[in-house]
Amino acid sequence: MDCIFCKIIEGSISSTKVYENENVCAFRDINPMAPVHVLVIPKIHIPSMDGVNNENSKFVAAIFEAIPKIAAAEGLKNGYRVISNCGEDGCQSVKHLHFHILGGKKLPEKMA
Ligand code: AMP
Ligand code: ZN
Repeated sequence: MDCIFCKIIEGSISSTKVYENENVCAFRDINPMAPVHVLVIPKIHIPSMDGVNNENSKFVAAIFEAIPKIAAAEGLKNGYRVISNCGEDGCQSVKHLHFHILGGKKLPEKMA
């Protein structure tokens, strides 16, 4: 499958991984929008939030268990933001479910 994040999981495209377990992989965004900008993805191909269902939601739970560990490891003691863009209106550019962790500065109050 021609999915850039599946290739990052396989290791055929390089990334700066910051966390990994059997269900989850996290790496630095190539175009950071904040001092800390990490992407957390499931280790199976789920195209977007719309693809989450009863069969694969354990991967989403695993992502949300990993997020506070990653945030702590990144030193985000003062808080952070988690975002998942979905579909056309959400401006999702990579069609493999991912959660952005943004932090390391006071983020803009306005989200949209
Ligand atoms: P989204 O717009 O929510 O789909 O976010 C996709 C994110 O993936 C963007 O912030 C990109 O900068 C990031 N991205 C795309 N390709 C790579 C890559 N090879 N390594 C790390 N981050 C990437
Ligand atoms: Zn994929």
